[in-house]
Amino acid sequence: MHTLPFFEESHRSLAATLEPFAVQEIAPLAPQDESATVDNAREYVLRLANARLLAHATSGAIRACALIRHRLARESALADCMFAMQGLGAIPILLAGTEAQKAQWLPRIADGEITGFALTEEEAGSDPSGMQLAAVQAGAGWRLTGEKTFISNAGILDVFSVFARTAPGDRDAFTAFLVGGKAKGLSSRAIEVMSPHPIGRLTFDGVEVSDADRLGPVGGGLKVALGTLDRFRATVGAAACGMARRALDESLGRTRSRVQFGKPLEAFQAIQFLLADMATELAAAELLVARAAWEIDSGAPDAKMTVAMSKRFATDHAHAIIDRAVQIHGGSGVVRGAMVERLYRDVRALRIYEGTSEIQRLVIARELTRRR
Ligand SMILES: Cc1cc2nc3c(=O)[nH]c(=O)nc-3n(C[C@H](O)[C@H](O)[C@H](O)COP(=O)(O)OP(=O)(O)OC[C@H]3O[C@@H](n4cnc5c(N)ncnc54)[C@H](O)[C@@H]3O)c2cc1C
Repeated sequence: MHTLPFFEESHRSLAATLEPFAVQEIAPLAPQDESATVDNAREYVLRLANARLLAHATSGAIRACALIRHRLARESALADCMFAMQGLGAIPILLAGTEAQKAQWLPRIADGEITGFALTEEEAGSDPSGMQLAAVQAGAGWRLTGEKTFISNAGILDVFSVFARTAPGDRDAFTAFLVGGKAKGLSSRAIEVMSPHPIGRLTFDGVEVSDADRLGPVGGGLKVALGTLDRFRATVGAAACGMARRALDESLGRTRSRVQFGKPLEAFQAIQFLLADMATELAAAELLVARAAWEIDSGAPDAKMTVAMSKRFATDHAHAIIDRAVQIHGGSGVVRGAMVERLYRDVRALRIYEGTSEIQRLVIARELTRRR
């Protein structure tokens, strides 16, 4: 993807350093992702920090983050997830933090303190305005009570942003806070999902937060949350493309080596057409993701719509590409632990988190009609 014209020389240098890192530091751990998810999650963060790659996550530079996610996702969805969460945790601080908050937290996140982004609740998924986690003023600070669910890194968080209801009303009712993962009154319960991913529920039982840990103005929380997602979701498309590229590579290898009816599979036109469609859809998805990332980095006014298009298109097509890769592999494609079987499970959540495909369509349609 880094060869596309939306990227600059600095991105091509980054891609050159990423290659040996992914092969030497990520690929060898990946086979243990399912049996040692939390240990590997922590180890990936450490390795990403040591290679100074997390500094890109905390810089908010979306093209760099997209390239890193694209390359990591080719080896390990878990490694990609751990990088992504450092970005998702850092961006609210970049968008709304004071200079003191930035100086306190961004270097620590770049050095490997594990972070997260707690928005979703049981009754508030696609529609975050239904959030009920309450932040009540208590002395000079705040007391948080309620639950969040589907929070990546729940249970291993060092510090994370939380969005809570601070007043009745609509969009001005929410405020963002930074909370320590070991805060008194905070507990977690893991949720097991279909692909390796540390995730769970968080319960806030009167968690005290000082006013110095409020992120942005009282009532500005939804703007911080949605602003973060509007920027970062271009990188979800990049991860999807990385997974799809791996599926295509695996398929090219398999169709060359597998012989049926006296010929390698690649000799059959039906298989060639599958490969052609996979490569075409992937090329289109990568172009759209690269354009979205470039628009964000350059502050383009239409970025929000392009980002939504890129996430919707790349994740839906990556799913379809990987499905065809499984078909090409025949029975060996559904064997537990086979690369394409893993990809089939890994790619699924990308059409759901950071706004489902349906919600992206709503964003695109809203932006289209707003401009008329
Ligand atoms: C692996 C994973 C990691 C996650 N990590 C985090 C995290 O770190 N932090 C966090 O805050 N959240 C996280 N989430 C939660 C995620 O953002 C939500 O699951 C997502 O926003 C969808 O919400 P929901 O699951 O409640 O589905 P719902 O909102 O209940 O939606 C169910 C279905 O209805 C559709 N739908 C809803 N409204 C409409 C509409 N108006 N028009 C058309 N269709 C609609 C949706 O598209 C979906 O298909 C994660 C989720 C997953 C799966």
